[in-house]
Amino acid sequence: MHVTEGEVELVVPEQPESGVGDAVFFNPVQEFNRDLTVAVLRAHESEADRDRLSYLDANAATGARGVRAANAGYDATLCDHDTDAAALCRENLARNDLDGRVEERNANALMHEERFDVVDLDPFGTPIPFADAAFRSAADLVCVTATDTAPLCGAHRESGVRSYSALPQNTEYHAEMGLRVLLGALVRTAARYDVAATPVLSHVTNHYVRTYLSISRRATDANAAVEKLGYIHHCFACLDRESERGLIAHPPDACPTCGESVATAGPIWLGPTHDAEFVDRVRKQVTGELGTASRAFDLLATLDDELDIPTHYDQHRLCRRWGRSANAMDEFLGSLREAGYRASRAQYGGTTFKTDATVEEIEAATDGA
Ligand SMILES: [Zn+2]
Repeated sequence: MHVTEGEVELVVPEQPESGVGDAVFFNPVQEFNRDLTVAVLRAHESEADRDRLSYLDANAATGARGVRAANAGYDATLCDHDTDAAALCRENLARNDLDGRVEERNANALMHEERFDVVDLDPFGTPIPFADAAFRSAADLVCVTATDTAPLCGAHRESGVRSYSALPQNTEYHAEMGLRVLLGALVRTAARYDVAATPVLSHVTNHYVRTYLSISRRATDANAAVEKLGYIHHCFACLDRESERGLIAHPPDACPTCGESVATAGPIWLGPTHDAEFVDRVRKQVTGELGTASRAFDLLATLDDELDIPTHYDQHRLCRRWGRSANAMDEFLGSLREAGYRASRAQYGGTTFKTDATVEEIEAATDGA
């Protein structure tokens, strides 16, 4: 089966319906993820001001990511321990007349031996088994895809606790909870090597979480990153939520708004999940040959405006709660701003938003809007 993505053509095995089988895995749904990666790599290269940066596709499978990085001008290494996968990687590089190295071996061993400017993790399920080696190996940027969204978001709680050493809560902002659980674990992993990992771009879909972390090897920066970890105290009764920075949680005895008990999630990342300047640079690199360019523009525009607040709301859910019909988003957010609050759309869905207003304040500000 042949697939064209961006400017490259890939040979990929027919994928079994069930998603299980011996075929080397290729996920067509992640074209959007790979398109954005190409834009990120271009943005990073234009800023780095060095000759030919190196890129490691650590979980290469068909080599889709590595081939596209090579096509973007990177010195690409494609690593997979599976013989069939390594053969496909070689075939896909050759088919596109691209140079690139294929390593048929354990990615962790390779990352312990060699430094790469950019390391990209895209394994089955949790990326945590590769995180330590990635932060030791990467000079500039670590890119991470996690497809285990149920453990991350709190739907499979014990599994999430095991993989990420954090307690998630299955709140109505579960997608963002998943992103922040992942970021918290990655930041702590990097800090073990005196490395500060700072998220410069992150996005979440139903099927995966994707994040790009810029690397600094200064212990003081790593300390500053750890200081952005903390907890969210969430009230399932009235939806009140408070965040608290630090590695020791001090949950309130009762919800300050309604008096019910609160549920605490953490330690998670409470800092920004993207950097506005970086997002702007990536936006300039989204070009027409990318199959999902318009979707990428939409996401990056939303991120550009998104407030740096650790949780979000969904207008439809709130309105259902209040027994009210929902409003157009621009009008709804306009009412909040007119009442003096900050408000923005959020990337987690068309009716999601962020604000510094409390639930009661949102209700009052948008009543009759
Ligand atoms: Zn409450």
